[in-house]
Amino acid sequence: MKKNIVILGAGFGGITAVLKLAKKIGRLSEEYKIILIDKYHHQLYTPALYEIAAIPMEYADDIPLKSSVLIPVADAVKRKPITFICDEVSGLKEQEKKVILKKGGDLSFEYLVFALGAETNYFNIPGLREHSYPLKTFDDGARLRSKIEELVQKKDEIKITVGGAGASGVELVAEFINFVCAIKEKIDNGKNVCNAHFLLVEASLEILPGFDAVIVEKTKKRLENLGVRIKTNTTIAEVNADHFICKDGKKENFDLLIWTGGVKGPEIFGNFGLPLSQKGSTIINEYLQIQEQNGPKSPVAIGQGHIFAIGDNSSMINPKTGKPLIWNVPVAEAEGRIAAKNILRSITGKPLKKFTPAKKYPFILTIGKKYAIADFVYFKFCGFTGWFAKQLVELRYLLFILPPQKAIRTWLLAIRYYTSND
Ligand SMILES: Cc1cc2nc3c(=O)[nH]c(=O)nc-3n(C[C@H](O)[C@H](O)[C@H](O)COP(=O)(O)OP(=O)(O)OC[C@H]3O[C@@H](n4cnc5c(N)ncnc54)[C@H](O)[C@@H]3O)c2cc1C
Repeated sequence: MKKNIVILGAGFGGITAVLKLAKKIGRLSEEYKIILIDKYHHQLYTPALYEIAAIPMEYADDIPLKSSVLIPVADAVKRKPITFICDEVSGLKEQEKKVILKKGGDLSFEYLVFALGAETNYFNIPGLREHSYPLKTFDDGARLRSKIEELVQKKDEIKITVGGAGASGVELVAEFINFVCAIKEKIDNGKNVCNAHFLLVEASLEILPGFDAVIVEKTKKRLENLGVRIKTNTTIAEVNADHFICKDGKKENFDLLIWTGGVKGPEIFGNFGLPLSQKGSTIINEYLQIQEQNGPKSPVAIGQGHIFAIGDNSSMINPKTGKPLIWNVPVAEAEGRIAAKNILRSITGKPLKKFTPAKKYPFILTIGKKYAIADFVYFKFCGFTGWFAKQLVELRYLLFILPPQKAIRTWLLAIRYYTSND
């Protein structure tokens, strides 16, 4: 019987870890089996998710639209020594070295990697979950676009509020401006003006918390030019069907509230008996092993150091900034590579590699149409060049996980859909 290396979650971190393991496992595959588990058959390409929420109606039911953001896991693992199981993880028996799968029951592991991502955080704000729309899945995106279409058809004047001015909130609100007016124009044959109001609300003192001041300023300027009203230092305290009340007592009406104000570790972690951070994610040490919460000086890795966590479902302090490591794609991928290395090193008795986070990670922020700010740490550019850089980053990723022909086809298809509004 081979021993199992089990990776939970086929998102950015999980796929990176599993592909790296498959590439390097060599003769160890005679003894070890790599198993990847996800509750879906696809990986969600989140950086383009806002595009799904703003897709023109003539494309909304296109079957190929789905494949522009939902990358089949089977294609990514094809002809590799990886077994993919589509099932939901529902429990952990740490002592027995088993995970519990909803359909498949117990699955034993020798090494385990948690890469289950994050969930929307509603911060227990009364009414927020009930009266707002999240943007975490393909279905969330599709639901949002249907709701907007319904609103534009029903009302002459609409108010759309996005709660949370992080990268997702900014990208979404900017994309909606064009989208809403394009629908209106089609419905009225261009006879009436597009009477839509966009509000972006943020609890912090500035939009894009944690981003460089120069990026914040550029983004603010662009959003204001596009007609977005920005309210910072504003905490939503209570939400009702058509309005919310801020901490300072002020009331704001809305027709649609979209919540992109925060994420937290997976809800199911509550049943796993793992030490968790305040944000409900696992606490990891510099080798990415899940550790007891007893401080960095005497970290005790659980499961004899055979249980790792990467990406959004893990948290560690970045020693270069003194702040919790951000949750984004480059971090999840970098951690995925180190987790794979450390599993192979542990098997072969070599010392584990430390994960050394960068002080800053690259990002690209699209702010309406073909305009994006790209910050590659050592150089930045914005406008069409930034947007084009985002397309190249997407192509690079698709080429990493898909066969070349399929990657290029998916990429071209995505560009065709996403620019159909611009
Ligand atoms: C709308 C949006 C836009 C974003 N844009 C960007 C961006 O432009 N750039 C950037 O760097 N980051 C962006 N992010 C953040 C980025 O998506 C995450 O940081 C990244 O996906 C983290 O990777 P991960 O592997 O930790 O988790 P994920 O990629 O979320 O993968 C988790 C996987 O686990 C699976 N899973 C979850 N629970 C279970 C279960 N119980 N059983 C089985 N499988 C399960 C999920 O189906 C999923 O496939 C965005 C996020 C959102 C929501």
